[in-house]
Amino acid sequence: MIKMNQILDKRELAPRIKEVVVYNPKIASKVRAGQFIVVRVCEEGERIPLTVADWNRDKGTLNIVFQEVGVSTYKLGKLGVGDVIKDMVGPLGNPSEISLFGTVICVGGGVGVPAIYPIARELKGAGNKVVSIIGARSKDLLIYEEEMRRVSDELRVTTDDGSKGRKGFVSDELRDLLKSGLKVDRVITVGPAIMMKVCAEVTRPYNIKTIASLNPIMVCGMGMCAACRVEVAGKTRFVCFEGPEFDAHQVDFDVLLMRLNAYKAEEQMALKKFLEGGG
Ligand code: NAD
Repeated sequence: MIKMNQILDKRELAPRIKEVVVYNPKIASKVRAGQFIVVRVCEEGERIPLTVADWNRDKGTLNIVFQEVGVSTYKLGKLGVGDVIKDMVGPLGNPSEISLFGTVICVGGGVGVPAIYPIARELKGAGNKVVSIIGARSKDLLIYEEEMRRVSDELRVTTDDGSKGRKGFVSDELRDLLKSGLKVDRVITVGPAIMMKVCAEVTRPYNIKTIASLNPIMVCGMGMCAACRVEVAGKTRFVCFEGPEFDAHQVDFDVLLMRLNAYKAEEQMALKKFLEGGG
């Protein structure tokens, strides 16, 4: 019998980036594009927020893509098919706003690409023309390309080193697309905070509504701990229950970047200790 939170499938999408298919019919029945879950890998594990990349309501499964960056994601990466994730809470956060906007550009960077995939799919389903720009540092780190191609009217690819597609950042492609005169009604960005900051600056002069799905440090995921607070339009907002999506032109990305780096040294030390101890 299949157990709750059991891993039914697992694949390595790129070095240190994995996808697991997990059985959780309760979350799968409710989740919508743009929402996330909070996972605890084991009894003494920390809580980690992860975006849901896909789901199958009939099978009761969720696809979760994660990058092994810290102790908890390394532990998650060590679980295999048949193993059970201790806890999963969700769906959390607000779903993306899906309407007929017209032409929408979806910009996804790195591990943000699987997170933007269901949003692009729903936007396409709502009748929008979806132009997607996805990027990674190099060809081997580019993930969810085929999935994005399927749900986009047009897909543009960038890599920082030029090993696939245009050499450069996703924001360079966005800049050129807007310069070309394409009429764009909305831009959605999901990826590293610096990427979303740059994309917001690219669209600002054009006055195109730009949405960023923010990725702060998050602990409870339900509005109690305040770890995920960000500054939006000069006000403190909680990403977990007021977001994760905000008007990118109103987000203070410098505060977000500063807070994201606050525990870097401790995180690296914990990971070093974990790996030295045999992982
Ligand atoms: P990365 O550092 O490899 O960058 C991915 C791409 O982002 C690059 O290829 C480039 O096109 C763009 N980019 C990076 N730096 C840029 C800059 N200075 N200017 C313009 N564009 C730039 O990304 P990664 O290692 O895959 O990290 C993924 C990030 O995405 C993590 O920070 C993670 O927290 C975040 N993430 C966010 C969400 C969300 O919901 N917001 C979901 C999943 C992952």
